[in-house]
Amino acid sequence: MSFNPNASLDPSQVQDTRGSGSVGRGLAVGGGGLGLVLLLVYVLLGGNIGDLGGTTGAPGVQYGDQPNTTTLDTCRTGVDANQREDCRILAFVNSVQAYWKDEFARHGAQYEPTDTVLFSTQTDTGCGVASTQVGPFYCPNDRLVYLDLGFFDELRTRLGANGGSLAQGYVIAHEYGHHVQDLLGDLSGSSGARGATGQSVRTELQADCYAGVWANHAASTGFLQPLTKAQIADALDAAAAVGDDRIQAETQGQVTPETWTHGSSAQRVHWFTVGYDGGNPDGCDTFNSSI
Ligand SMILES: [Zn+2]
Repeated sequence: MSFNPNASLDPSQVQDTRGSGSVGRGLAVGGGGLGLVLLLVYVLLGGNIGDLGGTTGAPGVQYGDQPNTTTLDTCRTGVDANQREDCRILAFVNSVQAYWKDEFARHGAQYEPTDTVLFSTQTDTGCGVASTQVGPFYCPNDRLVYLDLGFFDELRTRLGANGGSLAQGYVIAHEYGHHVQDLLGDLSGSSGARGATGQSVRTELQADCYAGVWANHAASTGFLQPLTKAQIADALDAAAAVGDDRIQAETQGQVTPETWTHGSSAQRVHWFTVGYDGGNPDGCDTFNSSI
């Protein structure tokens, strides 16, 4: 992944709570219901990654606290983003929000920026207590994006994505897509209907489409160098990895479209591509299109 070395990063857009243990690590041990306290949130993937089994052990055993010896204040330029994962996340957040600021302005509207909160293990949110098992998510109550960097390891090891760095850009742009939906009033009442053509799937596919739109404009935000085909393939690979059908086949051994909340791998890849090819959020009308 190549960020422009001269790009100036804005650390104020990411809050770093890693290692703060803000909600108490005692809760993180032995609690089988982690993540279930969440009220309505907009997550990246439908299945709970805690259901995927794999190698991380018992419920409640989390990714572990990596010592947070560096701070985001030291993420200053694209050079830092090219070298450090947390600076890279920050640079993606900066880029995604720079795009939406311009896009809203083109329509005579004002984008309201919001922060991403980096956490480890567990965190308190406006939507309840969240563990890393829910994966990255957007909470409409406090309008913040929540992300545990350990998720990207899960994406590779348990969800089978190749995990190229634009996969991270896709995840972040998807969550900010929910923020944009929130600002536009498109999130209300979208929680309910499951199923392959239900309201939840349509909401999620629009966020995927918005992620694709950002990717189209990523270079023009000044943070990233022009994306390569291989990088776009990484984003598509990540979108496919979080498809409901793939996760269901993995976790329950069968695919039940009537319970889908996010869409199939093919649908997610399709709508990211629609956004990327068209570069226009107006082309992301998943609510009135055949999906
Ligand atoms: Zn989502």
